[in-house]
Parts: sequence; structure tokens; C-alpha cells
Amino acid sequence: MATVETVKGPVDVNDLGPTLMHEHVFVLSTEHLQNYGEGDWWDEDTRVTDAVAKLRALKDKGITTIVDPTVWGIGRYIPRIQRVAEQVDINIVVATGIYAYEELPHQYAYRGPGLLIDIPEPMVTDFVKDITAGIGGTGVKAAFLKCAIEAYGLTPGVDRIARAVARTSVETGAPITVHTSSPAQSGRLAVDLFGKEGVDLTKVVIGHAGDSNDLDYLMSLADTGATLGMDRFGLDLFNPTADRVATIAALASSGYADRMVLSHDASCFMDYFGGGFEQTRAVAAPNWHYEFISDDVLPALREAGVTDAQIEQMLVDNPRRYFTPAAS
Ligand SMILES: [Zn+2]
Repeated sequence: MATVETVKGPVDVNDLGPTLMHEHVFVLSTEHLQNYGEGDWWDEDTRVTDAVAKLRALKDKGITTIVDPTVWGIGRYIPRIQRVAEQVDINIVVATGIYAYEELPHQYAYRGPGLLIDIPEPMVTDFVKDITAGIGGTGVKAAFLKCAIEAYGLTPGVDRIARAVARTSVETGAPITVHTSSPAQSGRLAVDLFGKEGVDLTKVVIGHAGDSNDLDYLMSLADTGATLGMDRFGLDLFNPTADRVATIAALASSGYADRMVLSHDASCFMDYFGGGFEQTRAVAAPNWHYEFISDDVLPALREAGVTDAQIEQMLVDNPRRYFTPAAS
């Protein structure tokens, strides 16, 4: 039986069910929260209770798994996710990796092959430990890898992180989700680098590909075997919903339904707006929440000619394939 690790332990890949492939529970800076949030806009119990309510509501819509690519750089803290997971009947799959647009964290700058402390790549060591032994003593294992290749391209820091992610994927078989910039078409850099590192590109999701409506760009990525993350529904400021829907419908009618996954890139709370997350969201992106796909996007996709079978592929079959080990 092929299984995937979740916060509450391994789950049969056949039991993942309808899956949103890129949702955060929390996006935070730990230092921001500890120094400016405590006693002001952050209350741990309130935020956990709120997350539980939002995930229960999502489960009521028929979604049974969320895949959370929150890693170092956007505040991964597994004990908090465990508190949430204990109270909800939804699978939460967590990641390892580094979220950085330009620079390597200082904590890796002096350690590594040929550096002041000359050791094997410590990021690979840390990522492999998260996948095989568990994260930070929680016993919760990461099921996939995450990095970012933004408009800045492969800066020295981003290049080293991306190669560490690639090598960990080759060593462990863990799949990858890479944040990309569609305006800069940095997905091309991602498939090129991962391909050269020997990564199985059918185990790569090109995150935020859905911000693009350039069918040539999207098909060229999908033709490598990679999966397109149509994963920012509700973020109309990056690409309006109607355009996202039309692009998916066009790709599905061209035979690419087996190369797309759906999500919102939403969160229960993020600290980019200080304590003003809900107020800002309500004004700037009112549809940017976990339930938008279930309530509005799926009907719009059907209206645009996407079949129920194709929706099933994007929500169930493609996530299952992504998390099924290549050997099994
Ligand atoms: Zn994200």
C-alpha cells in the first residue's frame, strides 16, 4: 500500500480524496509574531480556534486533504499545526524546504561543501531528516519539498536552495512544489534545473502557473511531465477568476487535465498586513479563502466545458499520482 505522510501520520494515497494542492494554514514570520504580535494582533488560542473552524467548513464542502507548503521563511511551526489537526477531520500534508526569493539564510552560508565548515550540503541533511525522521522532534514527517524561483531568477542563494531540494528529491523520492513567477516565466528555470539534477519531473508542481494565461508557456511546462499549479483562485489581482477558468478550460480541452491541480494559496491567517489580514482580504481579495473553488470555481469550470471527469483528475487523481512513490 502506498502511503503519504500527514500531520496525523501516514494515509493511503487512495484515501486522500479531493485535495487542494497549495493551501497554507498560517503564513507568519516567527520574529514578527514574537516581537510585535504577542499582546497585540496575535493570540495563539484565537488563531487556532479560527483555523479549526475554517478547515471544518472546508471539509463540509467535500475537500478531504490540504497540502500545505509552508516552510522555513514563512513560519513553519508544526506543533501549532498539530493542535489544529487534532481538532479537524481533514488531512494536512506538510513540507520541508526553504522559501527565499534571493538570499540563502545566513544559517547555511558558512556550512557546506568548500565553505568555512566543510561538510556535505547541510540543507540536504536537514530536508532528508524532515522527510525520514520527522520535523523538530514532533515525529511529523514532511511529504514533499518546497522552494521558490521568483522573478530574480537563479541568484546564488536560490540556485543552491533549488539544487538542495532537487538532490533531496532524487535521494528520497519526495515530490517538489516550486513557487514561480508567471510574469517572469520562471517555471522554465525550474524545469530546466530540476531536469539537469535528475529529478522526475512528473513529481514537480510548478506553483502559481495559474497566474499565467500564456498557453504556449503553460503547455511547454506541462510537456516536460510537470504539473501546473492552478493554485491562486481568489487572488484576482494576479489573474482574474474568469481568465484562470478560461485557461484551465482551454488546457483541459487540449488534453492537459492530467497535468493540472487546483488550489487558492489561501491561509487562515497571514501576518503580511500586521493584524489586518481579514480587513485587507475583504477589500483586496474577498474570494481568497478555502471555499471559493468548491462554491464558485467548480461550477464556472463546468460552465466553461470542463467535465466532471476532468475535475476529478485535477482534484483527486493528479494529487494521488504526485504523492504515490515512483517505485510502487
Ligand atoms: Zn503559497
